[in-house]
Amino acid sequence: MVQPLTESIALYNGVEIPKLGLGVFLMKDEDELVEAVKAAVEIGYRHFDTAKIYGNEEYLARGLKESGISREEIFLTSKVWNYDQGYEQTKLAFQETLDRLDTDYLDLYLIHWAAPKYVETWRALVELYEEGRVKAIGVSNFQIHHLEELKKQELMQPMINQIETHPEFPQNELHEYMEENGIIHEAWGPLGQGKTDLFNQPVIVELAAKYSKSPAQIILRWHLERGEVIIPKSVHANRIKENSEVFDFSLTAEEMEQMKSLDTGVRYGSDPDDQERLEQSSIRPEETK
Ligand code: NDP
Repeated sequence: MVQPLTESIALYNGVEIPKLGLGVFLMKDEDELVEAVKAAVEIGYRHFDTAKIYGNEEYLARGLKESGISREEIFLTSKVWNYDQGYEQTKLAFQETLDRLDTDYLDLYLIHWAAPKYVETWRALVELYEEGRVKAIGVSNFQIHHLEELKKQELMQPMINQIETHPEFPQNELHEYMEENGIIHEAWGPLGQGKTDLFNQPVIVELAAKYSKSPAQIILRWHLERGEVIIPKSVHANRIKENSEVFDFSLTAEEMEQMKSLDTGVRYGSDPDDQERLEQSSIRPEETK
């Protein structure tokens, strides 16, 4: 087995999160996911990102078990879905996630979106953290105003905010706010989710040639230069490996400056302030029948 990919960032409570993880969104085929996870562990990945709504927590547990890796060597993240939010419901959802993942603790638990009950949900996460059932807590898809609202509660602050980020949508204002407030920036869709033409952009193609790297590797390195945690998803072992080979070179300040030309300010994912979507997705499935 190769060396584990252990480069990490310390959260404000001292917990270390590996800078690179494997995202498993849209991995719906159990055997495919299991094979991807086993390949990732073999390559050296020690960080995995799932969510209740992905419907694959059990598959991830199987992949990790079959890989033979021990629980303590893995950094495991999951997220509470919108219709599970609220104080009591979140605690139940957390236990169900633990059961599906076949573990008795999580390394990181996130509020998936700032759905209407996110403040009560945060209270539940703080308690789970204080009880030692999760090593770190954070949020996802939170805007500055959501983070400010949490600040007013005078509880702990999130350690991480996982948000859509790629060179076309760098989220500079939110990035700076998080830096000032000690919240680590974790990028979802770090490669643009396969929805962009980023890989063919001349700036990226030129840098790829200069460093003998692929466009994907240049993009992932761009995230790392910004101090972000990355969780690229792939079901292909060769790409999982490619995405891990980003720790042996760096981009200069000038090259980072050139990459700024790719910023279109347009997101591919949902708008975190789309209240109608947040309300709709907060209705529990049994209540819609
Ligand atoms: P990514 O930006 O990671 O892109 C994934 C796509 O890129 C897939 O189509 C994959 O294809 C392809 N790909 C991966 N590596 C390469 C490569 N080296 N060269 C070319 N193509 C490549 O998008 P995701 O949406 O998956 O984001 C990553 C993770 O972030 C998710 O898996 C999930 O864990 C998390 N996430 C969180 C969200 C949130 O709301 N908090 C929302 C969305 C994602 P293939 O698999 O066929 O190789």
